[in-house]
Amino acid sequence: MKIGIYPGSFDPVTYGHMDVISRSAKIVDKLIVAVLNNSSKNPWFTAEERVDMLREVTKDLKNVEITSFNGLTVDLAKQYKAQTIIRGLRAVTDFEYELQLAQTNRIIAPEIDTIFLTTSLQYAYLSSSTVREVAYYDGDISKFVSPEIAKRVEAKMREMGKRK
Ligand code: ADP
Repeated sequence: MKIGIYPGSFDPVTYGHMDVISRSAKIVDKLIVAVLNNSSKNPWFTAEERVDMLREVTKDLKNVEITSFNGLTVDLAKQYKAQTIIRGLRAVTDFEYELQLAQTNRIIAPEIDTIFLTTSLQYAYLSSSTVREVAYYDGDISKFVSPEIAKRVEAKMREMGKRK
């Protein structure tokens, strides 16, 4: 069985992430989408909230499982007996960082390969931080995230005192 791990912050999950998820779910038998619970990033959403949102948007994809983790992606991959780590590439700006990460992981765990999916062009500009920025200044995020995620972002803004 081919098992892949797609790790990320998903703060919140965007149409760009969903595109990578649905495409990689066709490549592997089982896809584990893993929310990186990395405190240094100062996320808007808790890991539990991000897991919940991912479960909501992937509920129709039967071979996709959502989890959260602290620590190294390669250790998570070993835990799930995954052979591949999947990452998305938007632009050359992602490349240097992603290459370094993939090479580091290869040194630590040579049996695990990283595969990159290039973004669908209509999402090439899209990142979770763009979504947060636009939402924060009252912009329309309906082209960036699914309706259920937009509602969660609205609720989070109210929680932060940004909306009545
Ligand atoms: P991280 O904080 O680890 O970069 P993100 O949640 O921002 O986590 O992204 C997780 C992965 O998804 C990364 O590989 C990133 O390059 C990819 N990704 C994010 N947005 C897009 C997008 N719009 N199109 C394709 N890949 C994307």
